[in-house]
Amino acid sequence: MARGSDLNLVEVFSSIQGEGTYVGATTLFVRLGGCDLRCGWCDSPHTWKPAAECRIEVGRGSGQFETRANPVSVEDVIAAAESLDLAAHEFASLTGGEPLLQPEAAGAIARALRARGPRILLETHGLASEGLESAIADVDVVSMDWKLSSDVRRACDPKRGAVEPFHGEHEKFLAIARRAPELIVKLVITPASRDDEIDEAVSRIEASAPEATLILQPVTPFGAVREAPSAERLLALCTRISNRLAKVRVIPQTHKIYGAL
Ligand code: SF4
Repeated sequence: MARGSDLNLVEVFSSIQGEGTYVGATTLFVRLGGCDLRCGWCDSPHTWKPAAECRIEVGRGSGQFETRANPVSVEDVIAAAESLDLAAHEFASLTGGEPLLQPEAAGAIARALRARGPRILLETHGLASEGLESAIADVDVVSMDWKLSSDVRRACDPKRGAVEPFHGEHEKFLAIARRAPELIVKLVITPASRDDEIDEAVSRIEASAPEATLILQPVTPFGAVREAPSAERLLALCTRISNRLAKVRVIPQTHKIYGAL
């Protein structure tokens, strides 16, 4: 029988942050199961449904894992993190799937890991506002995506046809997220991303959280994704957006280069 703070876990492992502002930083990853979106470029579709089993790295950096049945307890996650030399990591990342779909567990894990040393970086799709309310007090860095409906649909949407934009929901989320000490908003740019939806996102960020760091992340060709946006397009976007937001960065994923998790 699952207890209140039990959770569906995909994995706990030690690695190096592969994307975003803190790329290269030692990071302990806690990946929770389940996601209610279907991003066309998702590189972890195995996290979409709650996992029957999770895997825990055995020894920091060993690449060796043991498996356990889900659900697991928050205490199990903390013990797994401590066995991987938790305090030696600069960050602990709560990621998924979408970690805020399990808000009670996400908040409890953030609180417990933070008390043991690392800063807490929450990697989220940026839509689960109620879940964020439960966890925000224990998060140091919110790294939220701003989803573009040209490439992303909800799990409940039909597989074809236009998708309602996510801008309004992201704006609501952003209002809570900016209470964190640091706020990062990430736009994944693909060849299909339209200028009008990017500009709409930037306008809303400019109006409600101009202090945010905006990351333009070119999609990584992987699986069904065949093509990245051109350097010219990224440079043009960066130039245009830099006139409106103070902190704009173009940062590709790096972990795919050396084949890390
Ligand atoms: S929100 Fe994250 S886990 Fe969910 S489909 Fe998109 S990229 Fe994949």
